[in-house]
Amino acid sequence: CGIVGYVGTRRVVPVLIEGLRRLEYRGYDSAGLVYHYEGELVRYRARGKLSNLEEVVDENIGVASRTGLGHTRWATHGAPTRDNAHPHTDCTGELVVVHNGIIENYGALKEELRAKGHEFSSETDTEVLAHLIEEYLEDDLVAAVRQALARVEGSYALGVLWAREPQKLIAARNHSPLVLGVDEEACYIASDIPALLPYTRQVIFLDDRELAVLEPGSYTITRIDDEEVLDKKISTIDWN
Ligand code: GLU
Repeated sequence: CGIVGYVGTRRVVPVLIEGLRRLEYRGYDSAGLVYHYEGELVRYRARGKLSNLEEVVDENIGVASRTGLGHTRWATHGAPTRDNAHPHTDCTGELVVVHNGIIENYGALKEELRAKGHEFSSETDTEVLAHLIEEYLEDDLVAAVRQALARVEGSYALGVLWAREPQKLIAARNHSPLVLGVDEEACYIASDIPALLPYTRQVIFLDDRELAVLEPGSYTITRIDDEEVLDKKISTIDWN
């Protein structure tokens, strides 16, 4: 139900927690976050309130991290359990996704991926996205996300991280809101503007079927199915 993502120069865990707190008004049943640390993705999830997540997050490990994703879930596929909470990973644990929305054709994709040897650890539609991207991933994350999303029907606001590229965050959307925040040192994603306001007022609204590649202080936006770079308008938010 809520998404926050960050790639930049700040300590990432407080940015994620504060952002999720600012999205709490939308309601949720569980929460999770993931950050890059020394070549790995470290993931924490908890049922219930954000304070339950804060209790399990190890800030001592996360203190050096500058890239991460957070999520508050409103369950649509699978009960509101810890195992179904986002972020979800592929088989290796090197690729993570957070997702708002519904993957309509997840059943067929899941069967296809199972037949190829993928093992699933949740009942969610979202986990299928992680495994589908993994299926296409060799050394080009953006290409793999494009190939995976070409096969997906449904609604999504999506954030993707890969352990091998600690300064790259990928976002995409289709029929689910997602906004980017930009400044000179960082890029942010959020499912709604309040999550960004403590950090930046410069925002870009992603439109349906668009994909953004975010790095600290720089970004490119394209359509999911086309590599031509789009010249998107930056809006300044002037309310609190
Ligand atoms: N369909 C996904 C799930 O049930 C995402 C729900 C959401 O938007 O929070 O996990």
